[in-house]
Amino acid sequence: MHQAPSYLALARSGDLARRVEQLNSLLSSCTVCPHDCGNNRLDDEIARCYTGRLPIVSSYTAHFGEEPLLVGTRGVGNIFFGNCNLRCAYCQNHQISQNHRVERQHEVTIERLAQIMLELQDRGCHSIGLVSPSHVVPQIVEALEIAVREGLRLPLIYNTNAFDSVDVLRLLAGIVDVYLPDLKYADADLAYEYSSVREYPRIAREAIVEMHRQVGGTLMLGPDGLVRRGLIIRHLVLPNDIAGSKASLHWVADALGPGVTISLMAQYFPTHLAASMPLLSRTIRQGEYERVLEYLDTLSMDNGWAQEFASHEYYRPEFERRDAPFTGGADNENACCIHEPHPARNESSGH
Ligand code: SF4
Repeated sequence: MHQAPSYLALARSGDLARRVEQLNSLLSSCTVCPHDCGNNRLDDEIARCYTGRLPIVSSYTAHFGEEPLLVGTRGVGNIFFGNCNLRCAYCQNHQISQNHRVERQHEVTIERLAQIMLELQDRGCHSIGLVSPSHVVPQIVEALEIAVREGLRLPLIYNTNAFDSVDVLRLLAGIVDVYLPDLKYADADLAYEYSSVREYPRIAREAIVEMHRQVGGTLMLGPDGLVRRGLIIRHLVLPNDIAGSKASLHWVADALGPGVTISLMAQYFPTHLAASMPLLSRTIRQGEYERVLEYLDTLSMDNGWAQEFASHEYYRPEFERRDAPFTGGADNENACCIHEPHPARNESSGH
């Protein structure tokens, strides 16, 4: 059983402060993510992620749509960082990820980010979920150090598109306890076509290998039965196999072992630019989803969850409601993203 977040030990030893220095040094010629833009963010020079010295917090809330062993009864305290280092044509959070002029208005100080973490803890959330954190890792860790001094004790969930720098991830070892990466594509050309990013499969796979090295392939649960340490790989099935689902899952089983936890997602719906793209302009078909589920069984990948096929009907975040982007109504908070255990996994998940 795993209880206290690892960063407490780093804070006590003084290593957390040293990590802040190391990470902040990456901002002067930015190499925080694999784009390696080289802009001076300490001087507020903007590059591909449209984020300067300060982080952008587009929304924060107790969120009940994540995987069941993260959500518990009081939700994940999600902090949604504005802007992104990818440009996914179908991004379901495009209102905050690709609307950079508006989002710059939501810059917060490092101290305010620390307060937000503490506020989510005070609300009773089980953990802090860092959503789209890849371009603001230095700011997050700087805020964390302040928040720990003020009493933060919740584990951190690093909820990422996986376009992460391995060097930066190494500086998160012992800080992040739960990694929640996407594995979006298996084909670099499709990643470029639909997310405007080069070499996504190689970079994401290397990032996930590093995450696995840090936290292992087995989920560790706390006394409340919720995940306190581990790796959960999310894979969103896209129409016309644009996500390369079988190739991605085969890679996971081969590189990390079939016991790794997979969260298979069916929630895709054509939003943002995707509605006008021929291969992305529809939701997935039931047969497409079932073929991926069957392939998981073929690989004996028994740990994790699969979203209900109809989840694309509910999952419609609305970030115009900054305080409650996932609520279509006050009573609808749990309906945004339903995860069912994979049929073959009810008894064998070991969770
Ligand atoms: S974090 Fe932003 S500025 Fe830095 S390398 Fe990545 S995209 Fe470029």
